[in-house]
Amino acid sequence: MKIPTTDSIALGGVQRELERQLEERLAVLEELQPFALPSVDPVAYQTSASHRVAIGQITAALNRIAAGTYGLCTRCGRPIAAARLEVLPYAAACIECQSHAEAA
Ligand SMILES: [Zn+2]
Repeated sequence: MKIPTTDSIALGGVQRELERQLEERLAVLEELQPFALPSVDPVAYQTSASHRVAIGQITAALNRIAAGTYGLCTRCGRPIAAARLEVLPYAAACIECQSHAEAA
């Protein structure tokens, strides 16, 4: 299934980039795993926590590519600006929705 608004985005390239980032972060996470406890190494713990969040977001973005909804805001359903997706390929919400979420 294809949605016209995502036609301009090179989805194949995006998917490869997301998969690359996912692999990279999983590798880092695996390396940090033995130390990633607040009592052992708080920095590693923090780092691995943020990697886990990103991995969840990247996985969700890959699922959206598979579902044909990639590039659409998961909150309002409007297309996410291409410039935003370039910077943050796994962005789930448009800038307006994201700023509301952060302000809340
Ligand atoms: Zn939105």
